Amino acid sequence: MNIQKTNKVAWHFNHSYTKLPKDFFVEQLPVKVSNPKLILLNEPLLKTLGLDKEALSPDAWGNIFSGNTLPEKAKPIAEAYAGHQFGHFALLGDGRAVLLGEHINPEGNHFDIQFKGSGQTPYSRRGDGRAALGPMLREFIISEAMNALKIPTTRSLAVVTTGESVMRDEALPGAILTRVAKSHIRVGTFQFASTLNDINKLKALADYTIDRHYPECKAKDNPYLAFLNAVIERQALLISQWMHVGFIHGVMNTDNMSISGETIDYGPCAFMDRYHPETVFSSIDRQGRYAYSNQPPIAQWNLARFAETLIPLIDHNADKSIELASQSVNNFSGQFQTAWLKGMRQKLGLFNEEASDIELINELLVLMQKNKADYTLIFRHLSSDAILKDAIFKDVSFKVWYKNWLHCLHKQKEGEETSRLKMLKHNPAVIPRNYLVEKALSLAVADQDYKFLNDLIAALLKPYEDSKVFSEPPIEEDKSYKTFCGT
Ligand code: AMP
Ligand code: MG
Repeated sequence: MNIQKTNKVAWHFNHSYTKLPKDFFVEQLPVKVSNPKLILLNEPLLKTLGLDKEALSPDAWGNIFSGNTLPEKAKPIAEAYAGHQFGHFALLGDGRAVLLGEHINPEGNHFDIQFKGSGQTPYSRRGDGRAALGPMLREFIISEAMNALKIPTTRSLAVVTTGESVMRDEALPGAILTRVAKSHIRVGTFQFASTLNDINKLKALADYTIDRHYPECKAKDNPYLAFLNAVIERQALLISQWMHVGFIHGVMNTDNMSISGETIDYGPCAFMDRYHPETVFSSIDRQGRYAYSNQPPIAQWNLARFAETLIPLIDHNADKSIELASQSVNNFSGQFQTAWLKGMRQKLGLFNEEASDIELINELLVLMQKNKADYTLIFRHLSSDAILKDAIFKDVSFKVWYKNWLHCLHKQKEGEETSRLKMLKHNPAVIPRNYLVEKALSLAVADQDYKFLNDLIAALLKPYEDSKVFSEPPIEEDKSYKTFCGT
């Protein structure tokens, strides 16, 4: 297959991943598409990468982000990995994605540039290697919303349609998403390394990942244990941030947990409207394994699988190694709790740290659940003292809680006003609500009408500004709302 190359854009590709043993990847070109058309191009991200939007026409960008015209120094590969999917181990790998390489921006930062939906690879198993437009737009919307909420995440640079259909339950327009990440190394990459039964290969991956994401660990007495601890700490922080905004990942398989600590793989994810800890949206998650409140213990479960892969590196004595790794994994709960509490205090404008804060927070959550209150809006309304219209305010127990909370604010030297200002910066007004995302996707996919989608994205990029259209909760909670894996 002849793929044209272009050098008009200032890409600076590096291919450090391909220095790993050959087991970890295969060279794989994206499969050409018949009629690429640029649908979304992320200008701020393009700037971050040091690339000039004006260097190319929309059609030429469409050619690049479909894989039809490759950047000159791109050397596409598909990465190998494994993973526990809903608790069951499987060998996986990029079945519908290729990595062009690591682009280095003018500031010297490295970014994996990956096409998702770019055709079959040796890891496709029974899949067609392709993606449908709706799910790729969905990933673009939600990942960029997460970034605006300051939550570590992979980014979305572009979406193109391919001009070809993909067969799912019905024929759907095909699309390719360009994903940008610190790297695509996952817990599942380490699980894959373990299956090779070769400590040198495992060590090569660990050393590479430490160099790339956790170089400070190299100077520690036990670099691999320090590495494990650092990954656990980043995940504890990440999951706490998800919990603060009501984000439900939906498919926290170990192959979807990034070692760099970014949120990755936006499939059946969704934001909760009414607060309920057992909220699940994913159509395939029938047991609620990945329900909202299960996310911290599931993250810990995944990290235990990660820790297992490092046992041969942590200590020559396997028993000692297991003991050290277990301690590290056990620390997750405390680290999560600390990070969660810190964020919840910010959401409630609490500067003082009192032992009774946990009770105060949990009481509010119980009252929210009882009153079917909108998680995002209650915090927002508490921030601006505009809660009168919410049903929860008529609840006598809530009135008691509210007085108690005000009492806490008044005890602080910073005062109520400062607290509310802090809260307005930590409680978003705009999140990608399911009914808004669905409306944007259906207008885009069925009518090629992208106005609502673009307006929604613009609002999501300023999540702490109230919006007449995009802050509103759904009129009626749709209890049957379901999300799909998007394959
Ligand atoms: P995901 O559910 O997106 O995390 O994907 C799980 C695994 O299935 C990964 O190895 C993907 O590359 C693979 N996969 C998902 N969709 C497809 C597809 N349409 N064709 C080939 N492989 C796929
Ligand atoms: Mg995945």
